[in-house]
Amino acid sequence: MTKYSWDIKKLIEKRDFFEEKFKMYGELYDLYAEMVENYSKKYQPVKEEIKKVPYLIRLRDEFYEFGKEKISLVSNAIYVTSAYEFKFDRTVHPKMDLSDDDLVLLTRSLFEQIPNRYFLDKFDELTNKDNHLLHIRSNRTLPTNYYGLTFTDPIEHKPYGLISRYHSIQDVISLGHEAFHAIIRELELPFYINPYQGTYGEVEGYFANMLFASLLIKMGYNKENILLFEKIDLITTIDIIRNCFILEQSFSTLNKKGQIDFESVSPILRSKGINFSLTRDTLPELVRQENRDEINGALSYLVSLDLFDSYQNDPEQVLNNLLNLVTIHGKSPRSELPTIGVSFFEDGYQNLDKKCKQLLKTKTTSK
Ligand SMILES: [Zn+2]
Repeated sequence: MTKYSWDIKKLIEKRDFFEEKFKMYGELYDLYAEMVENYSKKYQPVKEEIKKVPYLIRLRDEFYEFGKEKISLVSNAIYVTSAYEFKFDRTVHPKMDLSDDDLVLLTRSLFEQIPNRYFLDKFDELTNKDNHLLHIRSNRTLPTNYYGLTFTDPIEHKPYGLISRYHSIQDVISLGHEAFHAIIRELELPFYINPYQGTYGEVEGYFANMLFASLLIKMGYNKENILLFEKIDLITTIDIIRNCFILEQSFSTLNKKGQIDFESVSPILRSKGINFSLTRDTLPELVRQENRDEINGALSYLVSLDLFDSYQNDPEQVLNNLLNLVTIHGKSPRSELPTIGVSFFEDGYQNLDKKCKQLLKTKTTSK
């Protein structure tokens, strides 16, 4: 039986090629290095030295220069989410024993339900074993809550997908998720041309999670299990919304020396349902590291909610908007997003509120 597998020889060749010829594009070398690392059975993150090139310094500058609008769009959602509280059990996913081929077939049957043939054609291209674009690993060796990864080769415009199997219904969602990344990101300009590229980086991924969850429920798969995946996405986002709110509030109290006035931030946080007093030690990770990917992730989730809501009435249009996602630049979400029909910041985060109502319990104020 042939496996779903990358062509490791070719990846190593490319990695060496970029190391040799394109030292100035550290990211390209990183990309292939990471793919080669991920090919191996045991997950090893790319060496810190490689990651630390001037690239990181550029990210940090970019964060201060352009991150503000994103933080404000994400943190404003605090006004919706502070009305909800959640208790969260990460229950064990029930086993579903499918072979890799059957996993691809089941996921393919979901792609058949998407009213734009391009998605199915691209899925077939990705999963065609002869193309060596999809690598499926049966033992879960990626770090927790990594179900898969997609790397887009910006030279050949080829998407490489990696799925790490849990042998549960999660695998179907993972494959759908990574396939959506592969389809959308294939069209993207490389990051050394568009430095804002990551802004909407998780939009199609979250969209795929919502779409495939709803299709699986329609097909009769266990609703409780599937809503659990939806909850994970929502709660991850709410955590980042809270962190962004803290970050924004903290920025506003920075003194001339660049220190936060913790005492004036804490009461504001408490009034928004964030229950800890803020000190240097309790500053969440996001504030300490200014984690751009997390902020982009939360912004992407909010975008996906709006897109998925419109999908119910006009799926063809939304699929086109998704395919055009890479043509919006990423620099100024507030002015760009309305061009693809996304306006959560104007309607008071309605769809986020709806999602919270559907998945979380409303806060009880009685004591
Ligand atoms: Zn993703």
